[in-house]
Amino acid sequence: MANLELNVVTRGGIPWSVKREIENTLRDCYRKFSSRLPYKVDVFIVDREANMRAFLRDEKLKRGITVRDDDISICAHDAWCGYPRMLICFEEWAQLGKLARVGSVCHEAAHTVLHGSLEYCIFRMPDDALCAATIKGVDSGTLDQALYSISVAVKDFEATRLLINSGYIECQFAFGLESLGLSEQERAAWKSARENRQTRFIYLLNLLRPVLFAQPLLVIPRSNKLLEMQVYLGRRAEELVEHLGDAERSRFIQVTNMMTAGLTAVDTHKNVDFALNQAMSLV
Ligand SMILES: [Zn+2]
Repeated sequence: MANLELNVVTRGGIPWSVKREIENTLRDCYRKFSSRLPYKVDVFIVDREANMRAFLRDEKLKRGITVRDDDISICAHDAWCGYPRMLICFEEWAQLGKLARVGSVCHEAAHTVLHGSLEYCIFRMPDDALCAATIKGVDSGTLDQALYSISVAVKDFEATRLLINSGYIECQFAFGLESLGLSEQERAAWKSARENRQTRFIYLLNLLRPVLFAQPLLVIPRSNKLLEMQVYLGRRAEELVEHLGDAERSRFIQVTNMMTAGLTAVDTHKNVDFALNQAMSLV
């Protein structure tokens, strides 16, 4: 990582040891990644979720960004400045186990090398999906939302794939096991979402992100060392779709299998086009 400028900035009461732990994990990642590294990465470690939201709001105002609401999670990444930035919410991150904490930072580091420029913030709507949407009566707002959900899921799939290829396997299982899952509220929302074609489509697409995150880990050739973690993570992935009902669940599994089998391109845009075209059969 000789040429990479790594700036780690803390906001609020962040212990010095935490800053050092995150910095060390990142340096290790950038040494092992085979992809081309960005010239610089900014990392913000913010103490509380409320402060992370305020930070993102200010940033958007400052840069005139009007994209949808932020999906605040433990960590996040963006490329609004034209180079990658990473945000870590300390109070959420500190709840994770040690290995999952490493996994979460590696996950964002993978995004910074794979998706760290503006071209990965905006995706073009593929013509095939537009035609399919017209035929199937999907409105343009829903289709835009679908493209966004698919792009997020595909980017997570690519991040996991890069990490596996770089030898970060156990930490990704740990991160997946601690972070993937639905709340009771999210599960219950299916009841009303399934009544309407547009809301049902979006609900199903929002399940893609955790499923696509986990999928590359589940297909690593089984070894004694990984078997137990694969069984647990596989179970977690099944639980994500358990409440859908038999017909909807098998259709969803069939579509995601077709999708992941075809996500072979190095180009994220090609993968997103492919995934969206596959996803149209969920309408
Ligand atoms: Zn991600």
